[in-house]
Amino acid sequence: MSSGPTSDRTRLRREADRGSHDPELIRSIIDAAPMCHLGLTDHDGHPLVIPTIHARVGEQLYVHGSAASRTLRRLAEGIEVCCTITHLDGIVLARSAFWSSMNYRSVMIFGRARLVTDPEEIELALDAIVEHIAPGRSAEVRRSTPKEIGATKVLALTIDEASAKVRTGDPNDDPADLDPEVGAEVGAGVWAGVIPVTTQFGSPIPAANLDNEVPLPTSARGLLEHDER
Ligand SMILES: Cc1cc2nc3c(=O)[nH]c(=O)nc-3n(C[C@H](O)[C@H](O)[C@H](O)COP(=O)(O)OP(=O)(O)OC[C@H]3O[C@@H](n4cnc5c(N)ncnc54)[C@H](O)[C@@H]3O)c2cc1C
Repeated sequence: MSSGPTSDRTRLRREADRGSHDPELIRSIIDAAPMCHLGLTDHDGHPLVIPTIHARVGEQLYVHGSAASRTLRRLAEGIEVCCTITHLDGIVLARSAFWSSMNYRSVMIFGRARLVTDPEEIELALDAIVEHIAPGRSAEVRRSTPKEIGATKVLALTIDEASAKVRTGDPNDDPADLDPEVGAEVGAGVWAGVIPVTTQFGSPIPAANLDNEVPLPTSARGLLEHDER
């Protein structure tokens, strides 16, 4: 992955100071997200955006789904796709509605996905998707059968045309709202700041039909120990 814009469409224009093409930053935002959104057009040219699980292995972003999935079949045709990943980190409350905002980390990846047909790569991708959500889980569960794998499509999108955008910190109030002469009446009494937003795992809920003897697995305990994404 290059550390600058690889195409005109990944050149950040609005609030470009929040943008980055740093591969490490892009990878970290991708890896910390439980899911992504795939934006594409159907055969009639209608846009659709589909949320789905992903996993990154090197520069490959893998997604999977039912072999019957309309989205995956369409992507397998090699059409253009835009994958977005978003973390909401805070609600930014400014003294005015106009300057209120959000703290976030986001990534956009452009390209054409490739249908993965090599059985070894399919297995690697499916394991990576399981590991992405619950590290250690693929060693705990029953392996997929050939029939289950046959019912699954895996696509790979190379992460080379990508950008990140990050907002952090305080509200950027209009200076007039902070000026005792101009905005004191309006701004001074209005609370401003950031309400942090985090995603946390809750207490495990055993399946209703789980044998009471079965202990909580390492993967689930791992999630609880690292319960902030
Ligand atoms: C949680 C969240 C809330 C947001 N709320 C608003 C809002 O209310 N109003 C608003 O105008 N904007 C909002 N943004 C920012 C928004 O995503 C766009 O960056 C911004 O609107 C500029 O859009 P544009 O089409 O002018 O982008 P341009 O700067 O023209 O985009 C050019 C290129 O920059 C890159 N790029 C642009 N935005 C992003 C991004 N977010 N992440 C990664 N790469 C990017 C892409 O490669 C894109 O092709 C929000 C972002 C997030 C993550």
